[in-house]
Amino acid sequence: MITETPLVIESLTDINQTPAQDSWNKVLSGATKSVEKLLLQLDIPLTELNQRQLACLDFPLLVPQPFIDKMEKGNANDPLLLQVLPQSDELESVEGFINDPLAEKHSNLQKGLIHKYHGRVLVLLSTGCAVNCRYCFRRHFPYEENRIGKNDWQSILDYVGNDPSIEELILSGGDPLMLSDQQLEKFIKQAEAIPHLERLRIHTRLPVVIPQRITNRFIDILHSCRFDCAIVLHINNSQELDNELSSRLSKLRQASITLLNQAVLLRGVNDSLEAQVELSKTLFKAGVLPYYLHLLDKVKGAHHFNVSEKDAQQLYQQLSLKLSGYLIPKLVREESGKGSKTPVPTAL
Ligand code: SF4
Repeated sequence: MITETPLVIESLTDINQTPAQDSWNKVLSGATKSVEKLLLQLDIPLTELNQRQLACLDFPLLVPQPFIDKMEKGNANDPLLLQVLPQSDELESVEGFINDPLAEKHSNLQKGLIHKYHGRVLVLLSTGCAVNCRYCFRRHFPYEENRIGKNDWQSILDYVGNDPSIEELILSGGDPLMLSDQQLEKFIKQAEAIPHLERLRIHTRLPVVIPQRITNRFIDILHSCRFDCAIVLHINNSQELDNELSSRLSKLRQASITLLNQAVLLRGVNDSLEAQVELSKTLFKAGVLPYYLHLLDKVKGAHHFNVSEKDAQQLYQQLSLKLSGYLIPKLVREESGKGSKTPVPTAL
């Protein structure tokens, strides 16, 4: 079931495309796919080009311009750059780092649907992302086998409709905001007909790399649906949250959408006390609550991002002494076969 298929951008052609839709789609289609171009644009020496290109064969480089604009020129260790730049380390095979670290194939019960936890299901509405994050635990996920079209929506909704214990629908992917607003609206309207569904949660990183994705239409769709809605952003470093993104997020807040963040603890990106403090404070200022801090899922090709559990615990202890409780995300890891995320013990 597991293949080496990289994430790809789906075709997003939609005859009812609005100007706003058109605008973020244009940014998306202009995303950088070339290592050389990215490094040249950032004034960074073209080192290890062959190895980086080899790593791209397994998982291509993909990064939209607004995310590049947040990187510091000349800084090869920029925390945003490190998240997207292929490294020679990815070519090494390291024990314990595997293609499907969460064994999702066991809970991938039908095309486009993952049912792991009680009361909620994950719908893989899109098989594409706007950015390819090198640490992604789904970088080897068999997206091709899970590519769903509108015709598959019904069988997913039938599954949900037949299980009254499911109260929450989680839209994931890839990135669910790769769908057009029109497509999202259609899906949400169909889901609204299932009486036992109460909540809608959207996991997305797309607005972080293309803030224009938060269109007025998208906000209206969530505001006018009958679900209690939450958006979980995936922001790993405070540098990702600029004024443009903050002002779009404030519109979502005004529409009563709950905003949460989950980050992955990544070596070189956010594994210092200063980085974590700054992340929590910046999120809160933008109306986003720090929700989870995940230990890295041990996916093949991402071992260089790993922070040991001991280091994570020490960092967390220091964080607890610096910030108010509501600014501290829960430190967790995901383990296959468990009924929920596993809290990482933090008392040393
Ligand atoms: S946006 Fe999310 S799903 Fe897509 S590559 Fe990044 S971490 Fe993975």
